[in-house]
Amino acid sequence: MVEIESLKKWIELYGEKVTENKEHLNQLDSDIGDGDHGSNLTRGAAAVKEKVSESEYENLSDFFKDIGMTLVSKVGGASGPLYGSAFISMAKQAKESDDLAVLLEAGLDGIQKRGKAEAGEKTMVDEWIPVVEALKENNLTNKVIEDSLQKTKDMKATKGRASYLGDRSIGHIDPGAQSSAYLFESLLEAGV
Ligand code: ADP
Ligand code: MG
Ligand code: MG
Repeated sequence: MVEIESLKKWIELYGEKVTENKEHLNQLDSDIGDGDHGSNLTRGAAAVKEKVSESEYENLSDFFKDIGMTLVSKVGGASGPLYGSAFISMAKQAKESDDLAVLLEAGLDGIQKRGKAEAGEKTMVDEWIPVVEALKENNLTNKVIEDSLQKTKDMKATKGRASYLGDRSIGHIDPGAQSSAYLFESLLEAGV
């Protein structure tokens, strides 16, 4: 069972991590995309912080929904609608369950319904899939998060902007997998 207060801490830490690492995320995205991933998410993080801080939440669903809607409207690019779908899907699931693994699996499902990426296509999905699996086994660690991130390096992108590079996308970490790694590191740090 998850509590709103620890989830708030999670999202706050995520916003801080993304903001602190804005240039790193932009650099990863310059290597295989258009260099804006850190800027996109930093803008989203500021908007989410504002939205969440001015609201009192009585249930998880409303909290996730506000985050999702804010990300869709403020982040833009490919990642805005994808992260947005994750949280909107979690908002729907939160009406039925307050189990973290179940909620994040719904988030992954939202991302895949929206972006159609499967495992191995060098996207944020390659970070989400192993993390959701680990959570289901109650075994999420920083190592799981880091190993999955590193694995995106050897993958060839077949979805998103990086896919335009074909084989030249190989050898670089996927920026969306990196930002998702920050999301899950924050989850561990917040002790959700
Ligand atoms: P844009 O490519 O529009 O500039 P961003 O730079 O903000 O958007 O986000 C790029 C990230 O989005 C990629 O690194 C990848 O992880 C993720 N991404 C792109 N397309 C997809 C997709 N179809 N499914 C899942 N993730 C995707
Ligand atoms: Mg980009
Ligand atoms: Mg862009």
